[in-house]
Amino acid sequence: MNLTAHAACDVLVIGAGLAGIRAALTAAAEGRTVILASSANIFSGSSFFPGTWGFGLIGPENQADEADLAATIERIGCDMADPKLVQTFVSGIQPAIAEIKAQGIHLHRAANANEREFIPCFDHKHRDWNRIEAENARTVFAQRIAELGIETRPFCELLEIVVQDGLVRGAVVHEDGQIRLIACGALVLASGGFGGLFKHRLTSDDVSGSVQSIALRSGAELVNLEFMQIMPGYLSPIYKIVFNEKTFRFAQLMDSFDLPLLLGMDQGQDLLDERAGYGPFTSRLKSRLVDLALFKAQQADPSGVTVTYTQDMIEHPPELIRTYFEWMAKAKHLSMSEPAKIGLFAHAANGGIRIDTTAATRVPGLFACGEATGGMHGADRIGGLSTANGLVFGGIAGRSAAQFAAENPVQQGLGCTFEATASTDLADMLTELRELMYRAALVIRTKKGLEQALAQIDQITGRLQATVPSTSLTEKPADAKSLAASCRLKDQLMTARAILTAATLRCESRGSHFRGDHPEQDPAQSSPIVVSLQGGSIQVRFHPLAGT
Ligand SMILES: Cc1cc2nc3c(=O)[nH]c(=O)nc-3n(C[C@H](O)[C@H](O)[C@H](O)COP(=O)(O)OP(=O)(O)OC[C@H]3O[C@@H](n4cnc5c(N)ncnc54)[C@H](O)[C@@H]3O)c2cc1C
Repeated sequence: MNLTAHAACDVLVIGAGLAGIRAALTAAAEGRTVILASSANIFSGSSFFPGTWGFGLIGPENQADEADLAATIERIGCDMADPKLVQTFVSGIQPAIAEIKAQGIHLHRAANANEREFIPCFDHKHRDWNRIEAENARTVFAQRIAELGIETRPFCELLEIVVQDGLVRGAVVHEDGQIRLIACGALVLASGGFGGLFKHRLTSDDVSGSVQSIALRSGAELVNLEFMQIMPGYLSPIYKIVFNEKTFRFAQLMDSFDLPLLLGMDQGQDLLDERAGYGPFTSRLKSRLVDLALFKAQQADPSGVTVTYTQDMIEHPPELIRTYFEWMAKAKHLSMSEPAKIGLFAHAANGGIRIDTTAATRVPGLFACGEATGGMHGADRIGGLSTANGLVFGGIAGRSAAQFAAENPVQQGLGCTFEATASTDLADMLTELRELMYRAALVIRTKKGLEQALAQIDQITGRLQATVPSTSLTEKPADAKSLAASCRLKDQLMTARAILTAATLRCESRGSHFRGDHPEQDPAQSSPIVVSLQGGSIQVRFHPLAGT
């Protein structure tokens, strides 16, 4: 299909969560024309996920705390974070917080900030703790977007990046039942993580994981894909709400036979006490036994594990737990006295598109930021640093893209060809993909399970390519919609393949990556894994950080 540019701008931002909004506002403030596009609404993605009571945002307490925070990110990240990115990240947090406050964002502070619950996940000390509220952020950012004249395009999904003469020139999108080309001087990918590849996911469905593959196909690299956060969440009475891990130390967990989940384990209460210190699963700590037991129980009985609380917690909850249950009562009509069933869910990605300290990928004109990227976190991530990541690198990406676009103006009259095929039975294939990722790549990974999953991906990809004839696109919206859905699934399969391939190469357990057949960390594998695409095939390699 031949396309000519339907719209043009200096900077095109894909994704309208925190990172994309920051990038768009920053590029527009630099005087560039900006289009902010999202496959869902503006203010979407994990940043505006309704199943939580607010987003923690942490930073160094002061300048003197920066070195400790950087060192802790690297230590918690098990040497998988890039020190240069970490440095840029940490030094950018307080300026970014100051900037959004000046724009009118109200950050909640803790009244009892010294309570242990306010130590961020995995951290060893208190930091500058803040909570962003989605509603307030939406109001303030919407006003800024209007003031700066940013053009917003909701329900406009990226399908392909157009690279010509070695430079990014635009993007093919699906919008209003049409396949369209948007020309730009620079492109920012702020499309979030890849929770959408998993059966149980504590993310919104627009966090599909397709853009990691689109970036790969345009020549960018991915890094640290095998590291992602896996979180306990509610299976019932309401599905898909974040479980507050701080409550673990007051919890009684019972399996489907009504037996204590940790029955027969030494020091079960100590394990729960340690587990209350962090939300996402890690293989690093002894309390990994809690998650492994939880996941096995969930696999044996998909309805999950029953959680109830001690009377002491119900009567005297610490502040962070009280706030959580006040929100639960108001938003979900649930109280802490009601038993709930919990299980493990895919949550936020720690890895993604590889960028440098200017948020540039290795494709000229292509920038990326937020959860779509990797390298500033490692194998585990300190809580509250994903929102910080979106703010800091969103700002950097916006500035870098604005500068690039000023030097490489948008090409007038841009055209391109776009080849794709439309398929049927996509919903079944997506369900199959999510099932296999849940089974083989959520908590317990093994060589055999990963290889079986890769073989199943080959099989689904074959069906996707073979079953249905390529459509000669008409102007009918249904054609464009099914073409876009086919493209999305093809890219989701490619991202899943990249994750599984990286997880297969990493024959050890490190942070959030747990290999049942290699349960310990191996010092010989202390380098990040970089993924690229060569001749259409996924290539993975260990990439020593000294060489970055
Ligand atoms: C329930 C929950 C609680 C969390 N709590 C915390 C917390 O307390 N502290 C913390 O630091 N982090 C937390 N996180 C993680 C954090 O919220 C996210 O990592 C962060 O908000 C991601 O922001 P982002 O802008 O990079 O991506 P997102 O907010 O996910 O936005 C992605 C955007 O990209 C769009 N998009 C995707 N694909 C395409 C495409 N092909 N074309 C066009 N647009 C596309 C989406 O529609 C969306 O607009 C939490 C996440 C969840 C889900």
